[in-house]
Amino acid sequence: MKTHERVKKMKKIILTGDRPTGNLHIGHYVGSLKRRVELQNSNEYDEIYIMIADAQALTDNAEHPEKIRNNVMNIALDYLSVGLDPKKSNLFIQSSISALSELNMYYLNLVTVSRVQRNPTVKSEIKMRDYETSVPVGFFTYPISQAADITAFMATDVPVGDDQLPMIEQTVEIVHKFNSIYGETLVAPKALLPKNTYSQRLMGIDGKAKMSKSLNNCIYLCDNSDEVRKKVMSMYTDPNHLKVSDPGNTKDNPVFAYLSCFATEEHFQKYLPEYHNLDEMKKHYERGGLGDIKCKTFLFQVLEDVLTPIRERRKYFENHLDEVYEILRQGTENANRKAQETLQKVRHAMKIDYFANNDFLEERKKERKMN
Ligand code: ATP
Ligand code: MG
Repeated sequence: MKTHERVKKMKKIILTGDRPTGNLHIGHYVGSLKRRVELQNSNEYDEIYIMIADAQALTDNAEHPEKIRNNVMNIALDYLSVGLDPKKSNLFIQSSISALSELNMYYLNLVTVSRVQRNPTVKSEIKMRDYETSVPVGFFTYPISQAADITAFMATDVPVGDDQLPMIEQTVEIVHKFNSIYGETLVAPKALLPKNTYSQRLMGIDGKAKMSKSLNNCIYLCDNSDEVRKKVMSMYTDPNHLKVSDPGNTKDNPVFAYLSCFATEEHFQKYLPEYHNLDEMKKHYERGGLGDIKCKTFLFQVLEDVLTPIRERRKYFENHLDEVYEILRQGTENANRKAQETLQKVRHAMKIDYFANNDFLEERKKERKMN
């Protein structure tokens, strides 16, 4: 065998996930879910792991285990509804993979308290939850447990929204530190952000910087037509755009942010043929003469086109929960196998694999003979 044939091509592996703290929304869709499905269907990846992060959700919901338990199935339904295919992607439940907790424990030693304190996402989430003086230790260190999740699967690519960038950075640091101390073992991942900046952090229907389950400003993938219509029609727009003739601001305006993520030229041809594309529509709104109701009606039509096939798939899986349960069981079994393999490599690198073979005993015997 020639040398170049022996050099193994590095596998392309995806790991990503969501906290089961509520249903998934259109921010998740444009921030991460849509990309996952595209990557899955590109067939360019050797392995795909999609995690329902229940253990992470418990870090700030320790008193509400039933909330997390109920939402695990909701997230699984969201996954299958958007087109994640269990034949290609392993859908699994985090807390059933005990190797993740063990890896987390070893990685905690490689990160300083001040490094975690500097994590901008953790900082803003602590503030949002009024945790200043009472942050649970598990929540504070969740970026480190996320490093365990990512590295356990030797993930190369992590499709996420931009709030997760500091977590990927932290993971890369841990990988480098681990490899430099214990020898080349772990793989450094890279984040895959959506190209459209509005999709990297979709704003809420209230105009707040982030649509978030915790902020109650979401359009959910499982909302029915009436709910979506009501939410769209009550959406925040430009507060200074009082009369149709007033010039309007499209920049901090969620209606235009969502159109920029979802509206295609086909949507314009179908529902609003007086414009060819969003740029033309935006210019009209900015110079005045285009009313909010017309914009919102168009947005509603566009969202309905996106959500209808998702709702149809959901209906099927809601009527086949046994199938969904089996998908999770199988995905979790596969994920467990992979994470255990990594854990064995980590234990070996850290020289704590005492019972993997006879080495530990033989070394001790040799030591004694030499003395
Ligand atoms: P929670 O409030 O419980 O933290 P969340 O709405 O922030 O919930 P997560 O489960 O923390 O959702 O995030 C899952 C994934 O979705 C992450 O990759 C995150 O970056 C992405 N994401 C979440 N909200 C948005 C958003 N508004 N825009 C783009 N991506 C998002
Ligand atoms: Mg979050």
